[in-house]
Amino acid sequence: MVAHVLVFPFPAQGHLNSMLKLAELLYLSGFHITFLTTEYDHHRLCLHSPAHSRLSRLPGFWFRSISDGLPDQQPRSASRLIELYNSLTHNSSSLFRDFLNSNLSQSQDAGWSRITCLVVDGVMPFAMDAATDLGIPTITFRTSSPCSIWTYFCLPKLVEAGEYPFPEGADLDERVYAVSGMESFLRRRDLPSCFREARDVSDPRLDVVYMVTVSTTRAKGFILNTFEAMDSTVLSHIRTVCPTTYVIGPLHCMLQNMRSRMLSNTQSGETSSNSANLWQEDRSCLPWLDKQPKGSVLYVSFGSFTVITNEDLMEFWHGLVNSGQRFLWVIRPDLVNGVEDGEGQPTSVPPELEAGTSERGYLVAWAPQEEVLAHPSIGCFLTHSGWNSSLESAVSGVPMICWPFFADQHTTSRFVSEVWKIGLDMKDKHGREIVETIVRDAMEGESAQELRRSAAAMAEKARESIAEGGSSYLDFQTLVRYIKSTDQGDG
Ligand code: UDP
Repeated sequence: MVAHVLVFPFPAQGHLNSMLKLAELLYLSGFHITFLTTEYDHHRLCLHSPAHSRLSRLPGFWFRSISDGLPDQQPRSASRLIELYNSLTHNSSSLFRDFLNSNLSQSQDAGWSRITCLVVDGVMPFAMDAATDLGIPTITFRTSSPCSIWTYFCLPKLVEAGEYPFPEGADLDERVYAVSGMESFLRRRDLPSCFREARDVSDPRLDVVYMVTVSTTRAKGFILNTFEAMDSTVLSHIRTVCPTTYVIGPLHCMLQNMRSRMLSNTQSGETSSNSANLWQEDRSCLPWLDKQPKGSVLYVSFGSFTVITNEDLMEFWHGLVNSGQRFLWVIRPDLVNGVEDGEGQPTSVPPELEAGTSERGYLVAWAPQEEVLAHPSIGCFLTHSGWNSSLESAVSGVPMICWPFFADQHTTSRFVSEVWKIGLDMKDKHGREIVETIVRDAMEGESAQELRRSAAAMAEKARESIAEGGSSYLDFQTLVRYIKSTDQGDG
């Protein structure tokens, strides 16, 4: 019998992207795969993801979906994340059990083989508990930055040390010392957003993030999308609580490598993206990039969740145009606050912005980001420092300007600027002058050369980690051996 892995991501773009890549890597390693999404996301994947249409044609690779419990018309943006999370936890939990039971109770010759192992998003412990009850071994995958995950683990230590909570209006630049491994640089502002927002320890948000984080220690294993050379200190701390941690990133590079090794003869020349896109990629930016000089373009994207005000949008826009740099900017249809139903462009754009943009800029609603970052014309990435974006940028050797927005992004941003030294941190500021100055600095100022050198060195280390015998390559082999053992019932 072939081991059959059920991969179940949280329904958000970054989670889907990295977990679909893992699913394909496992498929190419010889396993059957079921990729379970919400009905809402499944519909969007069918519309926009070439990777979905490619994989759904493969024998032994199944896409299945269950409801997230929300009405179809309701937007699933960052401002509504808690609603989505609660709905999944409360409504999808029993649907997930039914789903597992339907698989386990059907006969082996029905075409859909028996699931032997679950790889579940670590933010959904309800799914791990359901699988464990049915005797299915579970591995959790946290798609956020390892540095933020370790910070979540250290919440009790921060409280015990009297460093947390801190009052509203407290100086966010004040240092905190209770997160082991980060004593020499972590500030209050670098803590995950729910730490910054909650005013006392009984805040239910803290309870949820801590409970979710600690739940990973109950799994058979823990997967992180990073590589040893990037996160060695943090990983050594995480291993004290999750000894079986598989560090197998950057997953998009692992997948590219494996696909080119295994599929070069049959699918050469294929250009479609490997991503689980929930929006239609606008590939017209690639020929535009081809026409720009090397390292001359600033790529700007705030990921899939961030929602900004129209005023913020205008400040960024003025800053970008005034910087005099070329830029490619992703303005999602739902980027601007209150315009979640498809009318994201501001009502009127001042003529100086129109002129500056048509001269040096290019706007898209959704970019083929991995390809954009790998393009030689890209000189820097202005990002919200979501973990996938940060990793994709680092391994492409592209320095970053970080405008952290929520969740793990503040901690990641501190690592970008202070630990890896591959970018600049905007903190929470984003007036037009600040944007203009930091963009000039990162693109052509004194820091630019240094940042590019560090980013190129990080990219080289990433390549080493995924090459045969590299740390991620070897850890992935160990993961594959474990999953193989689950078809013997000894997982
Ligand atoms: N992405 C993309 N095109 C875009 C913007 C983003 O393909 O125009 C992808 C990007 O490559 C990354 C994901 O969307 O894999 C965003 O994940 P991240 O963790 O950076 O941020 P989130 O969206 O979860 O905040």
